[in-house]
Amino acid sequence: MLCLSLTGSDCAKSIIQYEKHKEAIQLVELRIDYLETIKYEEIKGLLSLIPVPVIATYRRVRDGGLYEGSEKVRCKVLNSLLDLDFSYIDLEEDIKKQELEEKASKRSIKIIRSYHDMEGVPTDLFLRILKLHKRGDVAKIAVTPQSLEDIMMIFKVNKELKDIPEKVVIGMGDLGIPTRILYKKTGSMFTFCSPEGQEVASGHLSPEIMHDLYHADRVNENTKVFGIIGNPVMHTSSPKIHNPAFDQLGLNSIYVPFLVDDVRTFFQLADLLSIQGFSVTVPFKQQVLPYLGKISREVKLIGSCNTVFKSNRVWKGVNTDFYGFLKPLQEELDSQRIRTALVLGAGGAARSVVWALRNYYCRVVIVNRTADKARLLAEQTGSSWKTVEELDSVHDIDLIVQTTSGGMSPYDDVDPSSGYEFTGKEIAYDLVYKPKVTKFLKRAEQAGCREIFGMDMLIAQGILQFESFTGFNYPQKKES
Ligand code: NAP
Repeated sequence: MLCLSLTGSDCAKSIIQYEKHKEAIQLVELRIDYLETIKYEEIKGLLSLIPVPVIATYRRVRDGGLYEGSEKVRCKVLNSLLDLDFSYIDLEEDIKKQELEEKASKRSIKIIRSYHDMEGVPTDLFLRILKLHKRGDVAKIAVTPQSLEDIMMIFKVNKELKDIPEKVVIGMGDLGIPTRILYKKTGSMFTFCSPEGQEVASGHLSPEIMHDLYHADRVNENTKVFGIIGNPVMHTSSPKIHNPAFDQLGLNSIYVPFLVDDVRTFFQLADLLSIQGFSVTVPFKQQVLPYLGKISREVKLIGSCNTVFKSNRVWKGVNTDFYGFLKPLQEELDSQRIRTALVLGAGGAARSVVWALRNYYCRVVIVNRTADKARLLAEQTGSSWKTVEELDSVHDIDLIVQTTSGGMSPYDDVDPSSGYEFTGKEIAYDLVYKPKVTKFLKRAEQAGCREIFGMDMLIAQGILQFESFTGFNYPQKKES
């Protein structure tokens, strides 16, 4: 079940939130601590209008909520809330008020016994869940993972505490996002989400992202998990390439972003979750190589891998950036209309680009902010190189490829080609896909150049990844 946290400053606003998101959710949590004034008649009215089960939560600041008053007053309010028709009430583990427990039991309101750690993950995580569950309550634990090791521990709850079906285990923050999307793989009975832009807790996704993009509520023990690893990674558009395609082909698969601090631990997590394949982004494209049993010719050539998947029980690495980059240029390359290219940058993406162009016998000039890296890549690939200051001496270019992260949001103002004068005859290709039109592309367009956008390459390489992951052709877009 997906649970929407209602955070209106009054009940009317919370009802509007519910109405807006109701198609995606099966449960709501009314955050009493967000109400400006607690009016029991209005809460009663809200409960009569919301047909799904409602949790009453009155959260203290120290547990991630807004309530700053005394415990005595809070417990009095919780007691009064038990007169209303809530399905669940959230009581933190340290509330030892027998009268609240007795009243909840008499009114058939189930207790969610919660524990929050806003700084880390307790080493006795499993024991704590057992304790919270002891009196037959739903055990809820929300912790703050500091590393991928912590994420491993949260996913292990599913195996270690299989006999406790009524539990909710959540990892907060960006690291914890996979534990929210794959909540069923942690053994949780539900997970929380918030309206976009109004996140109640760090890492909350919107109900629509959880439901329409990830279909998180459909995950079961047979769901094949795929993903992307990177650091940072949460800006990625790749889930929007893979998840709709799984859905269209009726595949029981999900593609999730994993913020990774250590590649070795990720391979352990991949074993634990039986992950079938994953995309690799900055800074792990080289770091994954020692863990691969097989690599493709391109990976060997480029020395970097952006796609890893299980092939006959062995991790195989391929590089779809190489072919994804070529896709929008295929016609010009096949007809040999591109003979000379200027490549800006000498990082991981530039390596794929230069090798791909050299494979078509293009003459390549590399220019990079750190000149030594340009020189090294030029030596390895049989290209030439120049310094940034010498950019104005580069002429007669058929293609200019911008491969640096300069220009990528939030650095939209950067244009690593600023010393170069466009003639209007060259094709301008930017690998950056956020924003779609970079400063570099704007200048190229003004000069009359044909532009190719980073999104074109992202989609092309993603389609190839999908085919490596699943063995199926990427589906055609549905007719609308
Ligand atoms: P990387 O290995 O970290 O390399 C970064 C490159 O950008 C280096 O050459 C670096 O120069 C240069 N750079 C960074 N900031 C700069 C600035 N302010 N001015 C000038 N140069 C700057 O990263 P990568 O994997 O190559 O990725 C680079 C970009 O390509 C990213 O924006 C990534 O999103 C994009 N990309 C897109 C696709 C796609 O499918 N569209 C695929 C792969 C990558 P120094 O050597 O001097 O540090």
